[in-house]
Amino acid sequence: VKLSQLGEFGLIDLIAKRESKHSDTVVGIGDDCAVLKIPSTRYQVTNKLQKAKYLLITTDTLVENVHFKLPRDSFFDIGQKAMIANISDIAAMGGIPTHALVTIGLPEKITVEKIKELYRGIDSLAKRHKIDIVGGDTISSPGALVVSITMLGEVEKKYLLLRSGAKVGDLICVTGEFGGPAAEGFESRESKVESRIREARMIAKKQIATSMIDSSDGLVRSVIEICRASKVGAKIWEDRVPVARGAVLDQALYGGEEYELVFTMRKSKVESRKSKVGNAKMHIIGEIVMAKCGVKLMDARGKLKALKSGGYEHFR
Ligand code: ADP
Ligand code: MG
Repeated sequence: VKLSQLGEFGLIDLIAKRESKHSDTVVGIGDDCAVLKIPSTRYQVTNKLQKAKYLLITTDTLVENVHFKLPRDSFFDIGQKAMIANISDIAAMGGIPTHALVTIGLPEKITVEKIKELYRGIDSLAKRHKIDIVGGDTISSPGALVVSITMLGEVEKKYLLLRSGAKVGDLICVTGEFGGPAAEGFESRESKVESRIREARMIAKKQIATSMIDSSDGLVRSVIEICRASKVGAKIWEDRVPVARGAVLDQALYGGEEYELVFTMRKSKVESRKSKVGNAKMHIIGEIVMAKCGVKLMDARGKLKALKSGGYEHFR
């Protein structure tokens, strides 16, 4: 079977069909992070020692010519981008990042100066978010530069947000605008590399959301993932999608790399149609419906349209 037949998501589904699940694994494969009990309860007789927090773990890898191009992208930007992808996953669970491991696969031609530049990018975000770089691995790569980061974080049990909590009737909300990176050809731009960690924390602490995901793979993809995990469907209102300046609707729906937040909220918790979370504008872009309705786009006249499954997918 060729990889292109399954695609990235099909392949992950195949891998995810394993049952090994210890009692201290709260969430395994399938969300933005794994969620574990700390300290591990596996060898304890009682749960008394269990803290009020969960441990979060996530990992993301960037590969030259897949996620970035040289010399187009600066090493500083690549370092930041690798951190952002992970920080964003921790944020999407309602948590805060604490520690990271950084693995670099280096082609022979690379200079020490460039690696220092990469770490300047990594450190800039580590410092801003008080993340300790506590290890990693350094290996040679026969071709492409590879940067892989594993990040740990924590979240209070009561603030944990999963992809799987959306209920029929909930509203679908997003922070920020969509399609900007796609419209600009995904060039790394230092100024735009900011994750919604503050806003995600605010949403988690208000305890108003029923599910949350980061939009790294595109808006539609994110809604589809929430629906898959929550076993529901969705209607996205076409005229409510916040399209970034210079972008078109398709780029907003399928572009990706925005690292915004997509979350669902009970209707009763919504104060007004347009509001703010922290520094970000919040938009209500749709509604959760029954699973059998699927995930559809509704235009201004109320006509429903099918959506492409959409988003960036490896091997496709
Ligand atoms: P994200 O875009 O948030 O990083 P992914 O789409 O990469 O999420 O992954 C979806 C889920 O599948 C995550 O829970 C991730 O940990 C898991 N996953 C991805 N690849 C593998 C793999 N090779 N083995 C086990 N789990 C995987
Ligand atoms: Mg990933």
